[in-house]
Amino acid sequence: MPFAIKIELPRSLSFRLTLWYGIIFLLSSCLAFLFFYVLISTSLKQRLDSRLSDKISEFEAIYNLQGLEEVKSAALIESQAAGEKKIFFRLLYASGVAFSSSNMSYWQEIGINRKAVAMLVKGRSRVYETLTLAGRPDRVRIAYGIIGRGVVVQLGYSMENDTSFIAIFKKIFLITMSVLILTAVLAGWFMARRALSGVEAVTRTAQQISESDLSRRVPITSRHEEIDRLAVTFNQMLDRIEKLVVGIREMGDNIAHDLKSPVARIRGMAELSISDSSCGGNDETLAGSTIEECDRLLDMINTMLMISKSDAGAGDANMELVDMAEVACGAAALFGPLAEDKGVSLNCNMPEPLMVEGDLKMLQRAIANLVDNAIKYTPSPGDIDIRGFHDKDNEKINVSIKDSGIGIDTDDLPKIFNRFFRCDQSRAAGGSGLGLSLARAIAHVHGGEIHVESTPGNGSVFTFSLPRMQSS
Ligand code: ADP
Repeated sequence: MPFAIKIELPRSLSFRLTLWYGIIFLLSSCLAFLFFYVLISTSLKQRLDSRLSDKISEFEAIYNLQGLEEVKSAALIESQAAGEKKIFFRLLYASGVAFSSSNMSYWQEIGINRKAVAMLVKGRSRVYETLTLAGRPDRVRIAYGIIGRGVVVQLGYSMENDTSFIAIFKKIFLITMSVLILTAVLAGWFMARRALSGVEAVTRTAQQISESDLSRRVPITSRHEEIDRLAVTFNQMLDRIEKLVVGIREMGDNIAHDLKSPVARIRGMAELSISDSSCGGNDETLAGSTIEECDRLLDMINTMLMISKSDAGAGDANMELVDMAEVACGAAALFGPLAEDKGVSLNCNMPEPLMVEGDLKMLQRAIANLVDNAIKYTPSPGDIDIRGFHDKDNEKINVSIKDSGIGIDTDDLPKIFNRFFRCDQSRAAGGSGLGLSLARAIAHVHGGEIHVESTPGNGSVFTFSLPRMQSS
């Protein structure tokens, strides 16, 4: 019954790296082996060929000096001295017919290559061939050469020594390579595990975070540059996420708190209206208060929508040429009576026009919020100074609102622009905690910013900066 074995390889990166490392090492070892094998066998063959060629030249010299009989006896002596299983000689006519030889009992299977003889007759000085004999592990190298007029010598030499040398080389190479590949794979596995341990630390931290809290961070070591950079970036991202989550949580708490009171008041008034109607209460006053509370709620919701729109971009901002000096003095004129009633002096000092491109209504609202806050948080007797000026580089226009009010705690300072945030000491003053968020969102829509400096008990300075209108 046919069946398929499915091998599931581990999917870890360390395993794959090690596998690749092992494969590359194995391939390069095979290539190295092939290279050395070819090099060694070629040079062994060349060495043997040159020895055979020298021997033929020797016979040629004997033939020329002492004649054919001396060649025959020299060949016999040579084969007996080297061993008849090692070397053999045959003397042939140019027709390829043998007329003398050493003891050929061991070499019976070896015939005469007539093509080789023909090549010699045509002028080749030496012809070589390698023969494999049936049932013998070693091969024979045969050389043909002319030693005199019409006399050819066939000289055979057993390649046993070379074969066993190459076999030893193969064996040593195989053993060394197996040990090296095993060591390389183990070292590769260890190195891959070590290099990726940082990634595992990041993964572990990410898992722990989803399971528990956001305060965990990946430990930074100074071992691996890249992994450390990953860990630092991951930690920075966690910082930002933690900040966002805390901000959202705080905002949720504040929304719940700020919406609870008006809704509770509306509910209270409705209850009162039911109980009062039985005893003839004042429905008009209750309805008026309900409308007032609903207006406050609507105002809050509208402001939140406006902040969201502004945060998302200019939205439906109606850009035109606006003089911020006029906007600031307009706000001072509008809030003047309120400040006067509270016993706070309100001054507006605008020596020159401050031209910007912006949405007039939005900018008026932002400045009004800042002036309103200054009056709200400055007890009598107090001063509020509104001042307009260009910055040093003449790139920005600034409207600063300086008050001598209660100031803001250093801890609260970074949070006052968050939606619904209100400092503890100012909760009694009323307000939604949205005024500054809206003012900052409006500044951002116009490419500007709001800066604040404050000393608790001594007052605050809010500076609304916008890019100056470039004169064409
Ligand atoms: P609110 O409606 O409460 O005034 P804002 O967003 O305008 O909301 O202001 C946020 C908080 O910043 C205020 O509750 C107050 O605590 C603080 N704050 C704003 N402006 C001033 C100021 N001029 N002096 C002191 N505190 C201020």
